[in-house]
Amino acid sequence: MSFRYNRAGAPASVARYATVAVGNSLRAVSTGANRCKLPATIKASGVYVGATTRTPQLNTSGACTGNDGQNVIGWGALPNGYLAITCIYFVAGKVINADVMISKRYSWFLSRPVHCANTFDLQSVLTHEQGHTFGLSHVDATAHGTETMSTLIGPCDITKRALGRGDYAASLVILGTKPPGNKQGYLSEDLGASDNPVRSGYRFNVQRGVEGTGGFLDCNGTATETTYYAVAIPTVIGQTGTRAFATNQKGSIWQLPGAVPPVEPFGPPAQLVQ
Ligand SMILES: [Zn+2]
Repeated sequence: MSFRYNRAGAPASVARYATVAVGNSLRAVSTGANRCKLPATIKASGVYVGATTRTPQLNTSGACTGNDGQNVIGWGALPNGYLAITCIYFVAGKVINADVMISKRYSWFLSRPVHCANTFDLQSVLTHEQGHTFGLSHVDATAHGTETMSTLIGPCDITKRALGRGDYAASLVILGTKPPGNKQGYLSEDLGASDNPVRSGYRFNVQRGVEGTGGFLDCNGTATETTYYAVAIPTVIGQTGTRAFATNQKGSIWQLPGAVPPVEPFGPPAQLVQ
């Protein structure tokens, strides 16, 4: 399917390079881009073919208003609570056309701002919407809130730009384990051979984060987690490092002076690194 993009109404923050997010989101779903090198099973392809002045055919209630035969991604007024809505048209069970309207009501970014608040990742939301076009439906936001096809995405979340089999690995060893037929794991051996590897004077660990539950099975049939909590701690405090770090599925890195990493939920006295 060939998609065109209408820049009318785009917020200044993304106006110049929104087509990059459009192209990347289409590539993500067309290639079935996923984190465990599973063969892509989506038998469809979407490409960005250029600009248009046509508008996505949706009204301000978010209802689909007709199909002009064009696939248009553009901006418009949508009801409160909707970041974007996709209208999909089928003939004999096959998708023939789709329009995506992105809400002008919210604020958007292409690269996450350093001090990010109340603004949304255009590429993650478009990947989700294109997921609908290519036949994916929602997963429950409470059980699988970290997945791209969850009904919810938080402000500043950039983790939903690709599709995943589901959720997060529960340990570094799992990430270091080679999937059948693959020469390497997701992590290199110096990090993925132990659950507490040491590298560059820091000891690393990954485990389930707060409010996490068991997720789907990964490509090796190993249980995943819906959240993660990762730390890096100096092996010899004062010599190999003076600060301890922690991060989680939200993607921000927090630090504290000393050998004890910040705990969840992150906040003062821990400091945001970036
Ligand atoms: Zn959706």
